[in-house]
Order: sequence, then C-alpha cells, then structure tokens
Amino acid sequence: MLFRRIAIVVSLVLAGGVALLWGRSYAVGDRYRWVRIEDAPSGRFVMNSGGLATGIGGIRFVYETVDSTDPNVIERTRRRLDGISRWAPPGYRTIEPPRYPMRDTSNDSVLASLGFHFDHWSNSSPTTHQRQLTVTVPFWAIFLALTGYPLGRYVAGVVRRQREDRLALGLCPRCGMPLNEALMRCPGCDRPIPRPNSAENALSSAGEARSAV
Ligand SMILES: [Zn+2]
Repeated sequence: MLFRRIAIVVSLVLAGGVALLWGRSYAVGDRYRWVRIEDAPSGRFVMNSGGLATGIGGIRFVYETVDSTDPNVIERTRRRLDGISRWAPPGYRTIEPPRYPMRDTSNDSVLASLGFHFDHWSNSSPTTHQRQLTVTVPFWAIFLALTGYPLGRYVAGVVRRQREDRLALGLCPRCGMPLNEALMRCPGCDRPIPRPNSAENALSSAGEARSAV
C-alpha cells in the first residue's frame, strides 16, 4: 500500500517534470553531453560519450563507445570528438532553435510518423570495438507512460467503490438494478447475482472503508 502510494507520487512528480520540459521544448532546447576518455599506457583507448537533447515535442538520447588499440582509429576518433565539441561542448547548454530531435526523417514507418526513432550500429575488429545508439521518444509517450499507472489506480478505485456501494444497497454491482433474493440473474444485465458470502464480504469491507473515513 505504502509502496503503491510512493510509486504514484513519484510517477506524478516525474510526469510534472516531463510536462515542463515538453512545454519548454517549443521555446528552447536543452542539451546535456558528456565525454569520458581512458588512455591506458598500453596504448588502449576507451571512449564513452553520450547526450540528451530536447527538440520540439521530443527528446533524443545518443550513446557512443569506441574501444581500440589501432592508432588510426584513435586519431580519427579524437579528431571527430574535437569537431563535435566545437559546436556541442560537454556539459549542459540550452540550444535554439529546437527542431524535433530525429536524425533520419526518411524513415516513414508508423513509429517514425509518431515521433519514435531507434538506431543502433556496431562494428568489431581484432583491434577495435565501436558501438553507436540513438533513441528519440516524443514527450507525449513519456507523459502517458508516467500517468498511466496513477490514472489506472484511480479509475480502478472509483469502479471498486461504486461496486461496493451498490452491493451494500442491494443493487446489481454492474448495472445498479435493484436485486431480489429469489432471482438467480440480474433482470437488468442478465449477469449471475453475486453469492451471499461475497456480497457480505463486500458489505463488511464497504462498512470498514466507511468507518475508517
Ligand atoms: Zn445488473
């Protein structure tokens, strides 16, 4: 119970944050980028870089890793990183004007038209391992995912309380038709009438809920 409440509060707080970023993405873009390089004395070079960038209505995540002992690959990677860092230095920055953060718009799949994009590339040789990952997700999808659980819990609670109240009043929990002990099926919706003990359980739990309030 406590865990559910915490989960609901956390997802609503996150949904609020996403809504703020979502609205903000129409005026200004946010970008965060990091680069981590490990130069081992043995000549092995390991680079991890990644970033998050918002554009109008969406957010993109990029991750790249290069692990190599090949001097040519290391030199090329360093030069490319220097080039990227000239227009996108590591750290946090606002960018403008924001565009929807999708690289490949020629992809006309259903998911792409909804604003989703996923791209993964990797390459391995005896001296080098490289991997690139790009994911773009529209804000509305993140917002829906975060509000789905609290909304579902709320609707389920309303339905359960209505059912308990109807049972307590001797009404069909489904359609609200007054029930008669002699009937096997509800005259309103033709559903089997709940057994007396389950009705009793519902009654006592409805009573407990009321006395608890
Ligand atoms: Zn009914």
